[in-house]
Amino acid sequence: MQVTLNPVVINQARLLRELHHLATLTDCPPTTDASLPAPTQAVTRIVFTPRDLEARAWLISLAESAGFTVRVDPVGNTYIRWQGTDPDLGVVGTGSHTDAIPHAGMYDGTVGVLGGLEALRALKESGFTPRRTLELLVFTSEEPTRFGIGCLGSRLLGGVLDPATADALPDLLSEITPGAPSSPTASSSAKVGPQGTRLTLHDVRTAAGFTGPLTDVTLPIGYYHAWVELHIEQGPLLEREMLAADSALKGSGLSPSGGSRGLPAPENSSGKDGALAPERTILGIVTNIAAPASYRFIVEGFGGHAGALLMPDRRDALPAAAELILSVERHTLAANAEAKLTGQSGVDSVATVGAINVHPGNVNSVPSRVTLMLDIRDTDPERREHTMTALRADIANIESRRGVRIIEERINADTPAISGDHIVDTLTTLCEQEHVTYRKMVSRAYHDTSFMARIAPVAMLFIPCRNGVSHRPDEYATPESIALGTRILALALAQLANE
Ligand SMILES: [Zn+2]
Repeated sequence: MQVTLNPVVINQARLLRELHHLATLTDCPPTTDASLPAPTQAVTRIVFTPRDLEARAWLISLAESAGFTVRVDPVGNTYIRWQGTDPDLGVVGTGSHTDAIPHAGMYDGTVGVLGGLEALRALKESGFTPRRTLELLVFTSEEPTRFGIGCLGSRLLGGVLDPATADALPDLLSEITPGAPSSPTASSSAKVGPQGTRLTLHDVRTAAGFTGPLTDVTLPIGYYHAWVELHIEQGPLLEREMLAADSALKGSGLSPSGGSRGLPAPENSSGKDGALAPERTILGIVTNIAAPASYRFIVEGFGGHAGALLMPDRRDALPAAAELILSVERHTLAANAEAKLTGQSGVDSVATVGAINVHPGNVNSVPSRVTLMLDIRDTDPERREHTMTALRADIANIESRRGVRIIEERINADTPAISGDHIVDTLTTLCEQEHVTYRKMVSRAYHDTSFMARIAPVAMLFIPCRNGVSHRPDEYATPESIALGTRILALALAQLANE
């Protein structure tokens, strides 16, 4: 059913003011880095720290003063609810997260939360009445900083994580010496657990005031009729395409700021790092979300004195680990090349060894043990597994040639998510009606929506971010892009709510 709406006006100034205010709720000191765009803050907001609780309270006050009701579940997922005229129908939801890894930017997650709130408020101010209930969900702990697992709140909500296992997750911050001045949790209540053990999620959440059994967090399939998350892209593709479109227009002598799409050209949005100002926003409509699998490999060799242990006698763990890392790169490149050859979706597979620990780690000791962490992602779980199989064959070869033992531990392997056709169609149709340029794309980072996909038809709407930079203080999206994404989100929520 086509919804007739009064004009929906996104209050860009209000939305930006709130984004900037949320950025000030940070455990990083105000930046003195003049290269960052004003009023950029380096944001550190780790779940269940006093700063996180302060941000939650402020958000709830915004939601309540806009006339929405608020419910908080036992893990702290926060539901901001606008009841529809037919409350028995499945809910239409949007949302994201407000926690931030240490020294991050101010747009990751927050754009989806405050943009979602602005979308609801703008609809309300336009006189719209939803038939289905509309909900803005603020997820707990999308970032793995504190409990070692990303998307904690949405995993529980989607029934992907066992509640008892979740409650026993160790608090990785609880061994940090309280009060260390450089610690992101210097002002938090992190403590050392009894007998030197770590605190658990259960300890930390109940101390923060989130009580009740985690079994109550899970939502039934069908609770949501539809789900859309607004988020910055965290990659360079949309911006790249905008710059290409601009230079094509300039080459043709046409003005990029006029034209049928009628979008105002942003004011100067160029950074001091030389990035060009994209003149027109291209939004991303996410059709698939790649899923990561992570593994720990322990390479056990034979250590000794760097002078006395002669080369023919060595079973050095580090060169063996180096071979393993190169093998990861080789097989991932091969997977991409093969996909390209067979006309599949192109460069899709990525794998990273981003952490390595060498034991004993002395300049004059032969390494006896190396621990490394592998993160491998793909939209196709079979291709991901195929790469792992090829890697394991190399590992067997490294073991026998070098006389080392390599132990593999799988930490997790999530399922890639596929967007619901109907939600994707709703977003594409609205973009076309509103003369907004869009491209369909894959999300290579994973999001809470990956787990919402277990219980609801989902899609995501991406806003370009400068240079594709994220998880850094210089993360940036233009106010115009944020407002445009919020506008399409609002229209989609209205459309879906009246189905
Ligand atoms: Zn995020």
